[in-house]
Amino acid sequence: MAGIYIHLPFCSSFCLYCDFYSEIDGRARRRRYLNALKFEISEKVDFFEGVLPDTIYMGGGTPSLLDTEEISELSDTLRNRFNITSLREFTLEANPDDITPKKLEGWLRAGIDRLSIGVQSFCDDHLVWMRRRHPSAQAINAFKMAREAGFNNISLDLIFGFEGLSSEQWEYNIEQLTALYPEHVSCYQMSVESGSELASLVDSGSYHEPSQEICATQYSVLQHMLEKAGYRQYEISNFALPGRESIHNSSYWERMPYLGLGASAHSFDGEGCRCWNIADINSYVEAIEGNYYDKIRSEEILSDDDKFNEQIMLGLRKVTGLSLSSLESSRLAKIKPALDYLTSTGDILYEKGIIRIPAGRLFVSDGIMQQLFL
Ligand code: SF4
Repeated sequence: MAGIYIHLPFCSSFCLYCDFYSEIDGRARRRRYLNALKFEISEKVDFFEGVLPDTIYMGGGTPSLLDTEEISELSDTLRNRFNITSLREFTLEANPDDITPKKLEGWLRAGIDRLSIGVQSFCDDHLVWMRRRHPSAQAINAFKMAREAGFNNISLDLIFGFEGLSSEQWEYNIEQLTALYPEHVSCYQMSVESGSELASLVDSGSYHEPSQEICATQYSVLQHMLEKAGYRQYEISNFALPGRESIHNSSYWERMPYLGLGASAHSFDGEGCRCWNIADINSYVEAIEGNYYDKIRSEEILSDDDKFNEQIMLGLRKVTGLSLSSLESSRLAKIKPALDYLTSTGDILYEKGIIRIPAGRLFVSDGIMQQLFL
């Protein structure tokens, strides 16, 4: 497994809670950015060293904002530069307000076979508050259009854990989602990220985060309702119909190599080197145009302890857990007392050489994992 990620950091407006690197769209800037991306693609042809990338993911920002010709241009550049004959999944993140029959047709022609649609809620007042650019009816319609166009692998995103989301509304959201029956569901708890508009609301006292008890109950309701509807949870925030797990995202949790292209994109060599591009469109484009591309890249070589912690952190995100035989034995010996303790409290299940966090404790998984870090 190996993946290519392309970051398209343009949005037509900003959502209340968002802290992803993105900027307001502008056609001229977009053109320069796409040219820079094409240059970076050609610079990175040797990144995989014999491994064939099998997934492509276009994320953002709002990749669906781009014209289909621009998406095709990027797709063609990737095909011309990399050997992607083993491609198994090509995902595009899309916002409901961008989805039209014409765009859907263009995306299919560009080879995209999976859509990840940011629905977030089926309650219009929440969508307005979140500054989303679509009402719920538009999301439902967009999903149906995508189905009619021929997309048979669609993921929908929902958000829970924010002030004002009642338990009835949360159940309603999940019912609406399961009625559409997407192949995949991603669900995130709303968090207050510094720099977001939501953080300012917190600072001014006009937003109060719900208690962790309320959020945990909503998470548990989600798990149960999705299971009843036929979905299997395979990661803390991800659920899929059998066999429809995201191949691209799974490669992150399996510590497989991935190449990130574009401003703020991160790459990993599958061993111990992580690198990332500067999170600024202008600096990224100017560096490539000015031929000093290497100056806008940062790199971190992971120590053996870092690698060990990362294996724990990524492995325990997966519902299937982590094989102890994949961990380096002297470091494993160091965390043995913590592991024994967590097993005795039921926070970790140990079976046939595999450790995993049980479904009922996944909501507090961060705290559990931290106890195992070196
Ligand atoms: S949540 Fe998505 S659409 Fe909204 S501002 Fe962030 S990147 Fe843009």
